[in-house]
Amino acid sequence: MGKVNTVLGPVATETLGLIAFHEHIGYGMPGSELDSKWWKTPEQKYEETVPKLRAFHEYGGGTFVDATGICNGRDLDYYKSLSAKTGVHIVASTGFVGGDTALAHFAHASVEYLADQFIHEITVGIGNSGAKAGIIKVGVSRGGRMTDLDKRIYRAAARAAKLTGVAVMTHLAIDAEPAIEIFGEEGLPLDRVVFGHVDDGVNHDKSKDTWIASLGGRIGFDTFGYETELPDPPFWARPRKDRLDHFLRFIGEQGYLGQVLASADANCSPLGWPGVKGHTVNYIFEDLIPDLRAAGIDEATITTIFVDNPADFLTLHN
Ligand SMILES: [Zn+2]
Repeated sequence: MGKVNTVLGPVATETLGLIAFHEHIGYGMPGSELDSKWWKTPEQKYEETVPKLRAFHEYGGGTFVDATGICNGRDLDYYKSLSAKTGVHIVASTGFVGGDTALAHFAHASVEYLADQFIHEITVGIGNSGAKAGIIKVGVSRGGRMTDLDKRIYRAAARAAKLTGVAVMTHLAIDAEPAIEIFGEEGLPLDRVVFGHVDDGVNHDKSKDTWIASLGGRIGFDTFGYETELPDPPFWARPRKDRLDHFLRFIGEQGYLGQVLASADANCSPLGWPGVKGHTVNYIFEDLIPDLRAAGIDEATITTIFVDNPADFLTLHN
């Protein structure tokens, strides 16, 4: 029987239920909490967030993975309160969304320093909250090429993942060659890594999803709902049918159902930006699962995608 670190403590894997594996309670660029234009009171954040998590729970959602890294607005005492209030398991991330969202303090941090930081957050806790991280976030900085800091973060994440047994999730699957080389050098099996955002409108044609999967990596179709059909679509939006067809191809004729994870990457209460109107984690229940059913996907396959695959991925491997 495996376990997963949630913000309220470790829980047995089989209690996770349906998992939204890449979401955000609230993501913002470093410093957004200081910007008076966007500043929100704790009550405002609560009011925006609780109904979304309650609806998630009522739809049958069990676990919400917050993919917000260090410096991007994590607030663990708040997450603990949200989880206790709504009954949704929340899994928090250590790591960074990318080298370019790490504050200057970390700009020259060594691999050893970064690994120690991640290991501390996984085994001791984040800040004084006592809440332990359940996953490590890494990512490719803007520009589309891994920077030296990105590479140090990936290497530190690989070491922390090997030592603690938590999994790694990437922001973007572009420029995957150096990432795969680093994971190989550190001896981290690629089934402990999900390469994310292969499906968004900007990166889908630059992400080698089947190549990464052929090497054993897990693949994240995790921007479901960011559609060009939205009233005010973001720059990474993609036509709904294009993304769905891509996903169906990947789990169907290309044969990678066992390695796929799916999520909506929505913000319950965005920090320092307006967010994307009309898009929430509940896209999974309101749109995505109905679209999959309409495409002939059976219930066992839906369980594989949203329960079994992410549970296996999140379970501490040590
Ligand atoms: Zn995200």
